[in-house]
Amino acid sequence: MSPRILLAAFVLLLGVAPQIVPEFYITLLNYIGLYAIVALGLVLLTGVAGLTSFGQAAFVGLGAYTTAWLTTAHGVSPWLALPAGLVLTGAVALILGFMTLRLSGHYLPLGTIAWGISLYYLFGNLEFLGGHTGMTGIPALGIFGIDLKEGRYFYYLIWAVVLGAVWLTQNLLDSREGRAIRALKGGTVMAEAMGVDTARSKVVAFLVAALFACVSGWLYAHLQRFVNPTPFGLHIGIEYLFMAVVGGAAHVWGAVVGAGLITVLKQWLQDLLPKLFGASGNFEIIVFGVMMIIVLQRARDGLWPILTRFVPQRGGKREAPQAEAMPKRSMPQSGEVILEAKNVVKRFGGLVANNNMNLTVKAGEVMALIGPNGAGKSTMFNCVSGVNSPTEGEVLFLGKSVAGLNSRQIARQGMSRTFQHVRLLSTMTVLENVAIGAHMRGDKGVLPAMLHLERAEEQRLLAEAARQIERVGLKEHMFEQAGSLALGQQRILEIARALAADPCLLLLDEPAAGLRYLEKQALADLLRRLRGEGMGILLVEHDMDFVMGLADRVVVMEFGEKIAEGLPEEVQRDPAVLEAYLGGVE
Ligand code: ADP
Ligand code: MG
Repeated sequence: MSPRILLAAFVLLLGVAPQIVPEFYITLLNYIGLYAIVALGLVLLTGVAGLTSFGQAAFVGLGAYTTAWLTTAHGVSPWLALPAGLVLTGAVALILGFMTLRLSGHYLPLGTIAWGISLYYLFGNLEFLGGHTGMTGIPALGIFGIDLKEGRYFYYLIWAVVLGAVWLTQNLLDSREGRAIRALKGGTVMAEAMGVDTARSKVVAFLVAALFACVSGWLYAHLQRFVNPTPFGLHIGIEYLFMAVVGGAAHVWGAVVGAGLITVLKQWLQDLLPKLFGASGNFEIIVFGVMMIIVLQRARDGLWPILTRFVPQRGGKREAPQAEAMPKRSMPQSGEVILEAKNVVKRFGGLVANNNMNLTVKAGEVMALIGPNGAGKSTMFNCVSGVNSPTEGEVLFLGKSVAGLNSRQIARQGMSRTFQHVRLLSTMTVLENVAIGAHMRGDKGVLPAMLHLERAEEQRLLAEAARQIERVGLKEHMFEQAGSLALGQQRILEIARALAADPCLLLLDEPAAGLRYLEKQALADLLRRLRGEGMGILLVEHDMDFVMGLADRVVVMEFGEKIAEGLPEEVQRDPAVLEAYLGGVE
């Protein structure tokens, strides 16, 4: 059975469920739906973007309390209270996002715990929100004249929202903006080098997750018709996270599976365990804790990937995406100096990694930077591309100083790079990885992406990525997962990704490392072709033979300094170079 048929069957089942199951199960399904909406936000935020939040329940609370207060105290229609709640939640999420998303490592989850607790106590301590007793008398929802007082009817609204949210999230993930969010897991250095504004992408994921939570809270308030602070506390925030993780934190349907499983299990355990232990108490929490540990140990990606193993994947040969070519930047004249490093010094504390380095790269030439391990080549690379700022000296790109520009801004001007240690998203396809490189060439934002209104641009971006994949010779791997490629091919993939940005200067950090002889030949051919098209290439290499057959000019570094510069033949005979390579660490 294909995934499409399964989806249709699932929707059909959802549609008839209220007609056939008893009231009790409808209530349960309603709650599963509400939880799934919040968990879906966490799939995006935690599973995809890698940002852990324990505080989602507080956003649910914002949505619930806004509508509770507006509808009871001010007689506002629930349908107007929803956008009001979204605006408020959005504003709070933006403020919290800007404050906490800068935190890294375990500080971020701790930050979310902090504001999760704060908002919870705020709800309980505000008199006009009913304090810890809460607010009653929240009106029922009505839609098209139908009163949704009964859970049986409310059910349809909840699940329509769930399916809508799944659709929006899936659309987002399948777009340029979604790839930018997914790229966060590859490290911000890589994403920024591809022109992704990583701070913005984090905020987008955070905002979407918060807004989903708010909608869930709004639904909750009108389903229960009563709110108090309890369901918006930290322990429920942990439960939401638990749902997303158990279901499969990187998969949209994992949110539904996780919400379903945890809700049913909790219900069941709450009945069973007190009987078993002969005492009342929240025993299910203990079982959940143990379960969490098992899941994290045994099935880190959650249950969804395990379930889908039994569903045949979309078979058949997939066609490379096609579309008209994208506009290209005008290339500098061949022979023109495009990159110039002047007296660059880079110190790391007491260590001088680059000392007084000078080099130039012209359009239409391969300039090789070689030297033994630890000579300072990668550091030089990072100074040029804006990952590091030089301690002293200046870097000019296309005649302008790059001082003060970050790597994203430099990339935008036409400098693109690969990494010595490959940085790609191993679970994304080769095509998607390369499309990250084309990020800067699109401009459609989050909303069009979520509504699938950017399909024409998306098709052009994917087609551009496909062209670059063909150009480097990885065509038959286009739809494979990047992680399944051999290391050599992954390096070539990185070149395709860099090319997708339409650069005029290509920085390659040890592209031949790990390549077999024939692959090296193919790479050299590719670089020659690019040079012929007027591309400037700065090649950092270790492999002398590879460099000598390819480079137009060579700069040799040792201990952070330039020890020789010239044509490959000259450099090869230079006594200082021979000493560094043969007499030194090599
Ligand atoms: P290469 O690429 O030529 O092998 P690198 O540029 O990676 O050399 O490193 C040059 C020197 O700078 C090494 O001694 C390395 O340990 C040091 N170094 C590189 N990056 C950092 C950093 N971020 N902090 C401190 N020292 C660094
Ligand atoms: Mg290096």
